Formats: sequence, structure tokens, C-alpha cells
Amino acid sequence: MELGFIGLGAMGHAMATNLLKAGHRLRVWNRSPDKAADLVALGALPVATPAEAVGADAIVFTMLADDAALHAVVSGPDGFGARLGAGGIHVSMSTIAPQTAQALAALHAERGAAYVAAPVFGRPDAAAAAKLWVLSAGPAEACARVQPLLAALGQKVFPLGSDPAQAHVLKLGGNFLIMGAIEAMAEAMALGEQYGLPRQTLVDVLGASIFPSPIYLNYGAQIAAHDYRPARFKLSLGLKDANLVLYAAGKAGVAMPLAQLAQGRLAAAVAKGRGDWDWTASALGASDPA
Ligand code: NAP
Repeated sequence: MELGFIGLGAMGHAMATNLLKAGHRLRVWNRSPDKAADLVALGALPVATPAEAVGADAIVFTMLADDAALHAVVSGPDGFGARLGAGGIHVSMSTIAPQTAQALAALHAERGAAYVAAPVFGRPDAAAAAKLWVLSAGPAEACARVQPLLAALGQKVFPLGSDPAQAHVLKLGGNFLIMGAIEAMAEAMALGEQYGLPRQTLVDVLGASIFPSPIYLNYGAQIAAHDYRPARFKLSLGLKDANLVLYAAGKAGVAMPLAQLAQGRLAAAVAKGRGDWDWTASALGASDPA
């Protein structure tokens, strides 16, 4: 198929590479064009505007930092929204607010196109290995059409029905749980350390017993070793997600005090110049409040 891919950051670059490896033709656009260079060597066609990312099959993937970037490439100057046309599909994989998904789904529907939500769990190494977990929701026919494409990007695609907002809110729910795990592990390690308990021992024992989860094991090892650079997931984007959780909660009238605490940790870390560190560095708030 001839597909479009917009957003070649840490995640998008790896995902676009896998679509090329799966044999698809790809029209790629990134705000900083240099990130397309090695994809061009793999056969991708770099295009000058988001609108030109719409190719023969009128399926465009987006993997962008935030809601504002997504709005810009859909509806800004040279946005691809007006170009998608009837039958076109926007596969929206960024972590964004459910309200943004609803607005874009309505906009595309006015033009006969479909919005398929497909946010993901998994970091850039998982994206490169095509091991992402994909949360897919949108109009049934469009979801069915992109299913094989999503399957080429991940180890499992979870079909979640027709409401794209639900896929995005599930993604936010998952990231909220990770924020809670980071804070909880940081506090448990800070406590243990005061009693001479090595941080990694806590991770090893809890990971092999009552918390056998990739989050506790992988993030735990990072926090134990203070391994915060280079970022797998930028702390500034983690703050974006905490803000999205609180925004979505506010819209729904749901109290989320734990999200407020995590948001405070992430905001403080950004204020300390750690926005480009991995988001696990928010753990420093529990042991290094200075
Ligand atoms: P990233 O490496 O920072 O890449 C961000 C991308 O967005 C880049 O292509 C960037 O373009 C583009 N961008 C930013 N602002 C823009 C604007 N105003 N207009 C146009 N393009 C803009 O981030 P990432 O880690 O790939 O994350 C991408 C998305 O996936 C985010 O929503 C994130 O929350 C989500 N996510 C990340 C992970 C992870 O572990 N990293 C996992 C799951 C989901 P430039 O290259 O020009 O800066």
C-alpha cells in the first residue's frame, strides 16, 4: 500500500521503518526534515508538507508529541485533513486527550474520512522490534482496513470498539498507572535505602514475587540505577500526559489526587531542567528534593 507517516521522532521513526520493512510504500513528513534521511535510504518518499503525505491509499499515520502538533498537521497550513477525502483514514497513534480525538473524528467525518485511534504502549526499543501493544478504536470498516498495518507495528492489537476517545483514555489510564508505579517505587527505595537495603534488591525480590510486571522490573531497574539519560520517554512528554490525565479527569468530574501528585513531581523536574531526561527521573523527587 502507499501510506503516509507524519512524525519521525523516537517512536515514529521506528514505526515508519517497520512499515517500510513490511513492504509498504511510505510518504513521510517531519517538522525537522533531516530525520527522514535514513528512511529515504530504505525507499521512503520525503514530502514537503503534511498534505502531501496523503498517498494513493489515503491512509495517514500520525505519531507526534502532543495535541497541538496533531492539530497543526491536520488543520494548519498545508494540513492533511482537507486532502484525505472520502474513504480516507487517519491512524492517530500519539498520546492525546480524548477530546482531541472526538474533535478530529468529527472533522474527518464531515469530509467522509475516518479517524482511527491507535495509541500504543511500549518504548522506542519495543517500537523498533515491532513489539508495541496497540489500542485501536474507530469506525469498524476503517479499523478492519488498518488492522494488518497495526499488526505490523506491534505484538498485539486490542480492538476497543467504535469510540476513539476510549482508546485514548485507556492509554492515559495506563500512563497514569506507570506514574503511580514510578512514585511508589521511588518512595519504597528511598525508605529501604535508609535501612541499607540495596535498591536493586527491592526490585529483584518484588519483581520475582508480588509485582512481576514489566513496569516494576524495567522502570524499577532504571530508578534503582538512576539511569535517566538518554531518555526512552522524555520527562516533558510525561508531564504532558499527567496534564492530559488531569484535563480528562476535570472534564469528567473525576477526582485524581494521585495524578496531581505525579504532575507536581514531573513539573518540578522540568523546572529543574530535566525535561529531556527519561520520565523515571521524576523518582528523584522522592529521594532528592533539593
Ligand atoms: P519525540 O521523539 O519527541 O518526537 C516528537 C515528534 O513530534 C517529532 O517528530 C517532532 O518533530 C514532532 N513535533 C513536535 N511538535 C511539533 C509541531 N508543533 N509540529 C509538528 N511536529 C511536531 O517523541 P516520541 O517519544 O516519539 O513520542 C511521540 C508520541 O508518542 C507522544 O505523544 C508520546 O506521548 C507517545 N508515546 C511515546 C512513547 C515513548 O516511550 N517514547 C511510548 C508511547 C507513546 P521534530 O523532529 O521536528 O521535533
